[in-house]
Amino acid sequence: MSYRSTRSSTDQNISFEDAVMTGLAKDGGLFIPSQIPKLPKDFLTSWKNLSFQELAFNIMRLYINESEINDDDLTTLITKSYSTFRSDDVTPVKSLDKDNNLYLLELFHGPTYAFKDVALQFVGNLFEYFLTRRNEGKTTDRGTITVVGATSGDTGSAAIYGLRGKKDVDVFILYPTGRISPIQEEQMTTVEDANVHTLSVKGTFDDCQDIVKEIFGDKEFNEKYHVGAVNSINWARILAQMTYYFYSFFQVEGENINFVVPSGNFGDILAGYYAKEMGLPINKLIIATNENDILDRFLRTGRYEKSADVKATYSPAMDILISSNFERLLWYLVRNNVTHDDNKAGQTLGDWMVQLKSTGCVVAPQEVIDAAKVDFDSFSVTDEQTSQQIKQTYTNHPDHYVLDPHTAVGIFTSYKFISSSPKDLYISLSTAHPAKFAEVVNKALDGIEGYSFEGKVLPDELKALATKPKRINLIDEASLVKVKAKIIDLLDN
Ligand SMILES: *Cc1c(COP(=O)(O)O)cnc(C)c1O
Repeated sequence: MSYRSTRSSTDQNISFEDAVMTGLAKDGGLFIPSQIPKLPKDFLTSWKNLSFQELAFNIMRLYINESEINDDDLTTLITKSYSTFRSDDVTPVKSLDKDNNLYLLELFHGPTYAFKDVALQFVGNLFEYFLTRRNEGKTTDRGTITVVGATSGDTGSAAIYGLRGKKDVDVFILYPTGRISPIQEEQMTTVEDANVHTLSVKGTFDDCQDIVKEIFGDKEFNEKYHVGAVNSINWARILAQMTYYFYSFFQVEGENINFVVPSGNFGDILAGYYAKEMGLPINKLIIATNENDILDRFLRTGRYEKSADVKATYSPAMDILISSNFERLLWYLVRNNVTHDDNKAGQTLGDWMVQLKSTGCVVAPQEVIDAAKVDFDSFSVTDEQTSQQIKQTYTNHPDHYVLDPHTAVGIFTSYKFISSSPKDLYISLSTAHPAKFAEVVNKALDGIEGYSFEGKVLPDELKALATKPKRINLIDEASLVKVKAKIIDLLDN
């Protein structure tokens, strides 16, 4: 198996290691496998009773050559990555509404209580594995990596917990002062490992993201400090996320199994697309978005069009203008339905992405839209509906299940589809623990008899964070110069 860029118009033969360690291709495209591997003919029976870790091994083995990571090392990496999860199942499946064949796939049992842990625990170990190998026997001139990222919440803490204590890795996470939830700030700033640095920047999330982009574009800084990214376009994240589609599929019994996925950057649901293309018989992949609905609009109109402003919603991890991973899906849709050729598909995608950047809009040909609709469906949910769903599920569920707002977007969407196809089975992905989004959850549930956030929602482990000392580097101005100076100062000491 080798990898290529979605924007390349010539054949490429990139290793898994390079795809993971570089993150983004030189031409600005995203890495994709040179072909999608097929499953063993008997996988529906032979894989059915495997553990999460065993499934992860079988799937990853198809995408990583043994010459790059041998069986023993891959097993060790997987075991280590999922030993930090609080559930033996890693991603347990729960029945949410029996009468309607509706299940929840809980993806929040990792260290930061959000679905990004499933991928980032693995990515952190992979980084360390590759760096250790590159540095074998070296005493000077060791290969190092400086991960720099901006976060409005979940990504930062999942990246920190994925990379904490990893050898030859330093991680710097910028976040806007006072604009992330207290729990999210506590999660990031109470980590004691010396390689973790949090920068609270007086400014907005966009300011933080702009500074990070400039740091990535700074050649001199890059050559010296080897800046790396763990954002959602990293191929290893997509790969690690495929496992739970298989795992949950085997946990339920029913016909026409649909996955409903609260979506932002399209990374989570893209892993489902790979699973389906490999041969897992998924009926539909249903995109659930909040009012930042570029994906829903694409499926309805074929126009992939940026709206003027990002809306701040109750489900902030999905507040995006453009879904970066969507480029990968578009490549397959174009290759399979228009060009029938890898390099010509790369040429088209390259042209489209230039156009998207300059005009904010790409219009896909009808074949592409029709093909997208074979695998996908979508729905966009308002804040009002999100809140209503949290309340309704809490009231109707026998154990008063509390949904986080992102998960609630998925459940509201699930019921939309249940009303038109009631005989199908639905697995709705739960992407965060409700304690991480206290404000919205409390707004929906406060006043209902018997409800209390401390009593019903907040886990002890998160409660305990409030009393731990925080390690924060305050940057009193959204200034590239000040942030860079701070990073250099911390790296050199
Ligand atoms: C990141 C995130 C999402 C969106 O996932 P994508 O892969 O970006 O589509 C949804 N919910 C939560 C809680 C998240 O952290």
